[in-house]
Amino acid sequence: MLAFKIAYWVGVIAQIAIRAPFSKAWQSGQKTTQRISLIEKVLLGLLMVGNLIIPLIFSVTGWLDFANYSLPAWMGWLGVFLFACGLFIFARSHIDLKSNWSPSLEIRKDHTLVTNGIYRYVRHPMYASQWVSALAQILLLQNWLAGPISLIVFIPSYLLRVRAEEKMMLDTFGDQYREYMKKVGGVIPKWPAHHD
Ligand code: SAH
Repeated sequence: MLAFKIAYWVGVIAQIAIRAPFSKAWQSGQKTTQRISLIEKVLLGLLMVGNLIIPLIFSVTGWLDFANYSLPAWMGWLGVFLFACGLFIFARSHIDLKSNWSPSLEIRKDHTLVTNGIYRYVRHPMYASQWVSALAQILLLQNWLAGPISLIVFIPSYLLRVRAEEKMMLDTFGDQYREYMKKVGGVIPKWPAHHD
């Protein structure tokens, strides 16, 4: 169980490290349109609570131990594998999105529509990676509070975000994005996959 807690933290630190250079570039860049609602800000804050604060309390204190559960070892290892897959997708989507990445919804001054790399397979690989990591968390942090919290917070954040994001992309890129939506799935690849 300690091994799985450690795996969780290694994964979270890797996520932060992958994102850091993109955050830095974003902070120094120029933006034109920004669309973030109060509810989204609240949900972003709750995601931090789910990814960092509750897991930290669970990992370093015994306060949440009353809500522990215990899974067979293979399920913990499945969690490690899932988190590793999630990290790979997380890294790839940052690399492919380049300077178009932003923490909230916005269109940059020199925004381009990315449809190559991992974006050839799904339109929302970064969100897909968050689904995978949230599922892995349930297997790695075996506690009814610390395990499912990210998934519970992520569901409303995802639904709200994706709707607004796709509307923004359609407003900005019009038919180009409409065509892209026809060919490429959201978080699950369309079958048969489309290749040019
Ligand atoms: N939904 C994507 C990107 C998340 S980052 C994913 O899950 O991988 C959020 C920002 O990415 C949004 O503000 C939007 O401006 C930008 N974005 C989303 N899809 C994009 C695309 N195909 N090309 C360029 N920018 C995109």
